[in-house]
Formats: sequence, structure tokens, C-alpha cells
Amino acid sequence: MATVNGVLGPIEAEDLGFTLMHEHILIANWSMRQSFADWVDLEAHAEFASGEVRSAQERGVGSIVDLTPINLGRDVHVMREVAERAEAQIIAATGFYYYHEPWQSGWEVDRLVEFLLRDIEVGIQGTDSKAGIIKAATADEGVTAENKKTLQIAARLQRASGVPISTHTTPANRSGLSQQDVFEAEGVDLGRVVIGHCGDTDDLDYLEEILRRGSYIGMDRFGLDMLLPMRKRIVTVSKLCERGWAERMVLSHDACCHIDFFPPGTPMPPQWNFRHICDDVIPALRKEGVSEEHLRAMTVDNPRRVLTGGA
Ligand SMILES: [Zn+2]
Repeated sequence: MATVNGVLGPIEAEDLGFTLMHEHILIANWSMRQSFADWVDLEAHAEFASGEVRSAQERGVGSIVDLTPINLGRDVHVMREVAERAEAQIIAATGFYYYHEPWQSGWEVDRLVEFLLRDIEVGIQGTDSKAGIIKAATADEGVTAENKKTLQIAARLQRASGVPISTHTTPANRSGLSQQDVFEAEGVDLGRVVIGHCGDTDDLDYLEEILRRGSYIGMDRFGLDMLLPMRKRIVTVSKLCERGWAERMVLSHDACCHIDFFPPGTPMPPQWNFRHICDDVIPALRKEGVSEEHLRAMTVDNPRRVLTGGA
């Protein structure tokens, strides 16, 4: 039986269950954390985050994929702590966000691949917690020369390890397709790739162009209504199910238990949490005519197939 790398050890494919494919336990800048001990209150965070994870588990969530890349402050110690407190199955990622940092310019793709491969094969940050997925990201300006390097890193990690890729895109610039071009040129099986943030658009032509090339799409920002209102997200998923794509979509929120992009006290969207899909999205999809079989595909079977590469 295939297994998936979880932060507390391998997870049997059949035990993954209902899987949220793109969430974040903690996003906090490493430089600020290193410089200011109170940038994040880790004890308060672990308490809050484990409560958030438990509340998802109570609703039937079996596994959570934390897609925080290295340079958004990925901290596997925090993920392990939360996984232990909540007795949860959390899967960590390796890979880079779209921010281009000065040090990255001089490095060749393959030399960085050597480092990141250790996250998958040995463990992250000196632990035995191995990455179970590879994150890649492209920003508003699309695939630039520098961004292409990070996509190539993801591609080569995928080919070397067999672990899938999941991405951040901006649908407005159709960067899902440009990402597929880079992955394809690197010889990646596009069926091992989730093109993320596809739920931020209702442009069915664009989404089907991605789908026809064999990738999964992430309908993964439920709760972020300012980017696309829930109603449009629901109708888009339902239409794609009608058109035969239920086997190629995964659902998530891209929610963060703590994100330092905003100072403490900043109001967050009320439904941007690990519960919204179970509480509101699935009932709304049912009402829109999406079948139980298709709901199961999007929440259980597709995540398992993405993460294991198996059936
Ligand atoms: Zn994210």
C-alpha cells in the first residue's frame, strides 16, 4: 500500500480520508522571527491552531496539506507540535514562493534541487518529518526568467522524488498554462501537478485548457470572497462537474491559522478557516446538484491520487 509523508511519519493512502489540499498552519517571516522573539507567540499559536485543526477533524477532515513554502516561513516544528496536540495528519511541503530573493540569483537550479531533495528524502529542519508535496508559485507578472528557475526546481524535485507539485497562480494572467509549459518541458507528468488558485476565476475556457492537459486544478480559496464570491465559486465547480471534470478538482481554503502579512488585530474574512468547506461549501454544492460521488472524488479520492500517484 502506498504511503504519503506526513509530519509525524508515513500515512497510509487509505487513511488520508477527506483531505484539505491547500492550507497553512503558520506563515511568518523567518528574518523577523529570528530578530524579534515576540514576532509570533508560538505557545498561543499552537493552542489556537490545534483548536482550528480539531474543529476540522470534528467535521470529518482526515488530513491537511500545509502548502507553506520555505521562504514564507515554513516551520516543521510548529506543524509537528500542532499535529501532536490535535492528533492530526498534516503534510508539509518543500519548494519556493514567488518572491525572488537576492541570494537566489547566483544559484543554479540543480544545486538548489540537491538541498530541497533532502526535505523529501531525509527530513525538514533536522527532523525526520519529510515533505509530502512540492510547492511552486508564480506571481502577477507571470513566469519571468527568475520565476522559471523556481518552477524548474519544483519540476526536477518531482521527477527525482515522485512527490507531486501544487502551485500558486494568478488566473488573470493565465499563469497556470505557463507553469504547465515549464513542467512539461522538464518532463513532468502533468497528472502529478495541481494548478492552484483556479477557484479564483469562473473562466471555464481557461480552466478546461488546463484540465485538458491532464493536471488537477485547486478550487482552493473558499472563504476569500473578495477574490471571487462564494456563489461564483460554487457555480464554477458545479459546471465543471457537469462537464466531466469532478475527477480533476480538489477543494481547500488557503486559510492560515496565523499570517504575518497583516498586523495582529486585522480583521480576517469570517469564513476563511478550515471549517467553511464542510459547513457551507459542500451543502451549497449539493444544492447545486453536485452528486455524492463527485463530492467524494473532490475531497477524498482526488487528493489520495494526487498525493500517492496511485489509483
Ligand atoms: Zn497558500
